[in-house]
Amino acid sequence: MLSREIVIPFIPGDGVGPEIMKATKLVVDATVKSSTAGEVSLRWEELLAGETAFKMTGQWLPAETLAVIKERGVALKSPLTTPVGGGIRSLNVTIRQVLDLYSSVRPVRYFEGVPSPVKEPEKMNIVIFRENTEDVYKGIEWKKGSAEASEVIAFLRSRMSVDIAPDSGIGIKPISESASKRLIRASVKHAIKKKLPSVTLVHKGNIMKFTEGAFRDWGYQLAKDEFADVVVTETEMKSSGISKPPAGKIVMNDRIADNMFQQILLRPDEYSILATPNLNGDYLADACAAQIGGLGLAPGANIGDTVAVFEAVHGTAPKYAGKDLANPCSLMLSAAMMLEHLGLDEAASNLTEAIRSTLADGIMTQDLARLKGTRPYGTVAFTRELLAQL
Ligand code: NAP
Repeated sequence: MLSREIVIPFIPGDGVGPEIMKATKLVVDATVKSSTAGEVSLRWEELLAGETAFKMTGQWLPAETLAVIKERGVALKSPLTTPVGGGIRSLNVTIRQVLDLYSSVRPVRYFEGVPSPVKEPEKMNIVIFRENTEDVYKGIEWKKGSAEASEVIAFLRSRMSVDIAPDSGIGIKPISESASKRLIRASVKHAIKKKLPSVTLVHKGNIMKFTEGAFRDWGYQLAKDEFADVVVTETEMKSSGISKPPAGKIVMNDRIADNMFQQILLRPDEYSILATPNLNGDYLADACAAQIGGLGLAPGANIGDTVAVFEAVHGTAPKYAGKDLANPCSLMLSAAMMLEHLGLDEAASNLTEAIRSTLADGIMTQDLARLKGTRPYGTVAFTRELLAQL
């Protein structure tokens, strides 16, 4: 029998990146092999980025790396160091922007047995869709006292009658209808595909009406124009006096960002998808991850129309590099999302289940074991236990 080969470009990354990537490739190969009975095989294609790329080519992010990801349409990525100074932007942000990966997707769910700071962490099962290209990610900023800042301040004073202290730094936060709608569209499609009950638009529209408030309004408009057959709004439900949505319908509602932070602590089980502009999503994703045991267990994906890059959400954790101490679960769970994206649903769910049952058996790396006072497993030993499950 001939097996179907799928090529997966991967970036080993910096710091703990190469260790967690090595562990992840092993478990991904194992789950694909066992769940497809050998019908599918993976060919891993290493791409240069970060410190290794800089040492070898003098470039932090070679154009060829981006070209291959674009051509293959998928990649698995370990964390990369953000070079400090020298005018180099975050490589991670550059990859997302150049490839137009406009949805940052972060599922946050609890795994039994993992230490958590909250009483009922199992109530958290939320997917965050965060806009990934604009708002503060546009990076439009000018330093206090710069010619640009002074010019903007003078323009606002003379033409818009807006008074800004002359010793201000200036930042601009653009939020467009097109970028907001494509992100919210992706979140509603995900709710339909996964049969999830609600999509919540999280915004700060009470203060910023034409950016954050508009994000909310465009979301409701999109629901009306494109998803009227499946989406019902909370307001419509209230005005018809119904407390539960009709069967098969998705509820769209909205929450102001500060309220959302208390909602995730007090009533996380009432939410399933949060669609957010860039900055709100940044804060919320880490706050949600903290409730289920931290970033070591939070997977992430950056998804556009034709390309998707799956990555651990934590950074390079340089203090653990080369010490066999890193938790590989974030990258492994991101790889599970990648397998699902590639249509290998069974391989994905078997991998997630193996991680769940390994953690439930109390087998965990030092970041989690130290909170429970149990014996920690190194990255390699943890991976060996997972492979046994698979
Ligand atoms: P970080 O690498 O995420 O590490 C912060 C802390 O989180 C670590 O000291 C450790 O906590 C814990 N941690 C993170 N990953 C872990 C893992 N796999 N296993 C166990 N513990 C883990 O954040 P940072 O120190 O702020 O950033 C370091 C570098 O990574 C920077 O250059 C930053 O720009 C970059 N970065 C890259 C990405 C990306 O590539 N997507 C994302 C974020 C940051 P304890 O010390 O408490 O044990």
